[in-house]
Amino acid sequence: MPNLSERVGTFTDSVIRRMTRISNAYGAINLSQGFPDFDPPGALTDALAKAAHAGPHQYSITFGAQNFRAALARKVSKTMGRAIDPDTELCVTCGSTEAMMAAMMTICNPGDKVLVFSPFYENYGADAILSGAEPIYIPLVPPTYDFDLRLIEDGFRQGAKAIVICNPSNPSGKVFTREELTAIGALARQYDAFVVTDEVYEHMVYAPHTHTAMASLPGMFERTITCNSLSKTYSVTGWRLGYLCGPADVIEGAKKVHDFLTVGAAAPLQEAAVAGLELPESYYSELLVLYTQKRDYFLAGLDRIGLRHNVPQGTYFVMLDIRQFLELPQFRGMTDLAFCEWMIKEIGVAAVPGSSFFREPVNHLIRLHFARQQSTLEEALRRLEKLAALLPEAEKKKNTELNKGEREA
Ligand code: GLN
Repeated sequence: MPNLSERVGTFTDSVIRRMTRISNAYGAINLSQGFPDFDPPGALTDALAKAAHAGPHQYSITFGAQNFRAALARKVSKTMGRAIDPDTELCVTCGSTEAMMAAMMTICNPGDKVLVFSPFYENYGADAILSGAEPIYIPLVPPTYDFDLRLIEDGFRQGAKAIVICNPSNPSGKVFTREELTAIGALARQYDAFVVTDEVYEHMVYAPHTHTAMASLPGMFERTITCNSLSKTYSVTGWRLGYLCGPADVIEGAKKVHDFLTVGAAAPLQEAAVAGLELPESYYSELLVLYTQKRDYFLAGLDRIGLRHNVPQGTYFVMLDIRQFLELPQFRGMTDLAFCEWMIKEIGVAAVPGSSFFREPVNHLIRLHFARQQSTLEEALRRLEKLAALLPEAEKKKNTELNKGEREA
């Protein structure tokens, strides 16, 4: 057999999605790959049932059905604080996954440098390889996930063509402040670089934090390519509806990439999703209330059982610090991946090993998500209590105190 491309030899399958398969094989509670276990709003499922009979069942316009883009433009215009042209400033994609891939392929030549924060959502690594870009990693340092602006300037000085910002950030839960984004934006303008954002968790930002769209900042729309999707906002991760928003000349390039990658997102699903885009503002505030409750319940549960965690400002992810476990004789020398596999089998809860997000050799963090029904979260916490039970009482108490201190800070 002839060789496969060198490209495919340089990255692995997604560890996030692999953990889901292992979790399913063992019947564990899957808190690894982030997606809700509850239904989308009735407005969407009703519209989907209607579309099953009324259509459309054939291709939509390659860069998105007219009515879907019109509804999308109305929603995105509010976020961006400017009127988005549905014909020239939007391109509908198969999930934000394709949006990010298309963005990278649109702006990068092989060998171009791109700034990527570490930890990063693991797709960005493969996106860079597939588009030929060379990532320069900017550490987001746990547990606060702060960064050093000087490293970003260094990166731009080395000629980086773009910076990728996941905001709110997966897996750290960091929400970039307006000041941080303004400072990064100023550097992007100074060094004439693009900003590519992934804002799929824009509606999951917990008080007192607020979401700022990079493209809404003065002078930034012109160089910002926003990747987003309907997956998280409307609990429809399986519908694979995403989009790119940006200045017309960039979107024109992205439309070509997209056209030849996938032709288009599923037509009946675009039709049905219009009903979601037209939901009143109260939908988004209720979604935030729901996720705030889940976050508060789950974090309080982790505090109670004495597991050390960070405090996410946004997203539905939380990082557990497993350092104390890795010091126990039975886990000594174990990788975080092996620990997660052990946890699936012995504790019945699936997490994602932190090493799949970090460029640095980080082995002591694992990611859980809380986009689960209350009863599932309750059961997950009962199981995690068995995990915590392996720690000495004093350590658990210390964790509870440290967690509480950070949550109240
Ligand atoms: N963003 C989700 C996560 O990080 C999963 C998205 C996906 O698997 N496409 O878990």
